[in-house]
Amino acid sequence: MDKIQNYINGNFHDPIQNEWLDNYCPASGEVYGQLPNSSKEDVENAYIAAKSAFPTWSQTTIEERSRILIKISELLEANLQGFAAAESKDNGKPISLAKAVDIPRAASNFRFFGNAITQFSSESHESVGQDAINYTLRQPIGVVGCISPWNLPLYLFTWKIAPAIAAGNCVVAKPSEITPMTAYLLGDICNEAGLPKGVLNIVHGLGTTTGQAIIEHSDIKAISFTGGTATGAHIAKIAAPMFKKLSLELGGKNPNIIFADCDYDAMLEISVRSSFSNQGQICLCGSRIFVELSIYEKFKKDFVEKVKDLKVGHPSKADTNIGALVSKQHLNKVLDYIAIAKKESATILCGGHKVNIKGFENGYYLEPTVIEVSTDECRINQEEVFGPVVTIMPFNTEDEVLQMANNVKYGLSATIWTNDLKRTMRMSNQIQAGIVWVNTWMLRDLRTPFGGVKASGIGREGGFEALRFFTEAKNVCIKY
Ligand code: NAD
Repeated sequence: MDKIQNYINGNFHDPIQNEWLDNYCPASGEVYGQLPNSSKEDVENAYIAAKSAFPTWSQTTIEERSRILIKISELLEANLQGFAAAESKDNGKPISLAKAVDIPRAASNFRFFGNAITQFSSESHESVGQDAINYTLRQPIGVVGCISPWNLPLYLFTWKIAPAIAAGNCVVAKPSEITPMTAYLLGDICNEAGLPKGVLNIVHGLGTTTGQAIIEHSDIKAISFTGGTATGAHIAKIAAPMFKKLSLELGGKNPNIIFADCDYDAMLEISVRSSFSNQGQICLCGSRIFVELSIYEKFKKDFVEKVKDLKVGHPSKADTNIGALVSKQHLNKVLDYIAIAKKESATILCGGHKVNIKGFENGYYLEPTVIEVSTDECRINQEEVFGPVVTIMPFNTEDEVLQMANNVKYGLSATIWTNDLKRTMRMSNQIQAGIVWVNTWMLRDLRTPFGGVKASGIGREGGFEALRFFTEAKNVCIKY
C-alpha cells in the first residue's frame, strides 16, 4: 500500500486526527494506497510553518529563489520516468501523455517562473511639475493557498506554486484528493533542491474538509484555485467577505469552429486531439464541434473513422491513446450525459459504451464518443461533461456559428479553423473566451495570459499576470 503523508515544514507527517482516504487506481478500479484527510489542525500547522518561513523567504534574493526553482525543474526532469508512471497510475492517463506533457510541463512551470522572476519589474511615475516621483513596490502577499484539480495533477499544481514562491510568498497547497500522488512526491524534490523548510507545505484531503479549512483561514491572504465552477462560486462566497485575493480558473464548454476553407488534414488530426486528449478531461478540450455545412458530411465520415481508430487501453501500454477515466463516479457522470443526449434525440455516431480491458475489468474505461446534435440548446451542448465525448453539428453562416459559440454560460477557450484573415479577426474579437486558438490547439506560450470569462472564472494566470496576482502593489510617492 502506498501511503501518502502531508509535507509540512520540510517533513512528512500523518494527519493529526489519523483520518485516511482510499486512493484508487483508475486503470484497475482497485485501492492502491491511502492519503490523509487533513483537518483544520493540519492546515493550521501548515500555515504556521509557512508564516515562519515567510520573513526569510520574502527577503531571499531573486537570484537564489530563481536558482532553487530551476533546480526543482531539473530534478523533475531527472525523475521523469518515475513521476510519469506515478501520474499515470494515479489518474488513469496514458503514460505516454504523462511523459510527453504532464511532467515536462510541471518542470517547465518551475523553470519558467524561476526565469520570469528575474525579469519582473515594477513601474515608476514622475509627477512632472509637482517635484515628486512615485515608485511602485511589488511585495509578496504572505501566506497564500493553492488548490488544484485532478485532470492535470502535477501540471496544474505547479502552475500555481511556482509563481507563488518565485514572488516570495510561502504556500499552503492542496492537490485533488483524487490524484494526490505526484504532489506528495514533489516534497522530496523540493527538499533535495534546497527549498527552505516551510516555503511550500502540502496538505492532502477532501475539498469539504482540508480545502474548506484553507479557504476559511483568515490569515491565508490569497487563493489560487482551479476546478469546477460550482466549487469556484462557493470559494468566492467564503473568501470575498474576508477580502482575499482570488484567482478562479473554472469549467469550460469550448467551441471548435471549422470553416470549409481550413487546412483540412491538420484540422482533422488536431480536432481528434482537442476532443479526446487525456480522455477529454482537459478544461480546454473543444467539446462542441461546429462544421460549415459544405464540408459537414465529409468531416463527419472522416472524423468518426479516425475516432474509431483510437485505442482504448491500459494506461501503461505504449500504444494506448485513451486510458481510464479518473474515477468511477466520474465515469458514471459521463455515461449519464450520454443517456441524456440520447433522450434529447441526439444520434450517437460512435462510442457511448464502457470498455472491458482484459485483466482490468473494474477499470473506468469508456469508448471515445461522437454525438450528432441538431440544436445547440440541448444539455449535452450546454453543460460541461469533461470526458471523451464531443458533439458535432453543421452551421450555415459566420453569424450563426458565432451566436452558438457564445450561447453558453462558459467562456474559457475557442478554436477556429479558417484561412480567411478578416474572418479570423472578426471572430476572435467577438468570441467570448479568454483564449482563442486559430488553426491550432493547446499551443501554449507560458508568457501569455491564461484564464476565462463568464462562468469560466476570474483573473488570469501565466507570465507576469501570475506574478502580479501573487504580489501586492504599493505606491511610494516622494517629494523632492
Ligand atoms: P473540483 O471543483 O471538484 O475540485 C477542485 C479542487 O477543489 C480539489 O482539490 C477539491 O478537493 C477542492 N475543493 C472542493 N471543494 C472545496 C471547498 N469547499 N473548499 C476548498 N477546496 C475545495 O474540480 P475537479 O472535479 O477536481 O476538476 C474538474 C473541473 O476543473 C472541471 O470543471 C474543469 O473544467 C476544471 N478545470 C479548469 C481548468 C482551468 O484552467 N480553467 C483547468 C483544469 C480543470
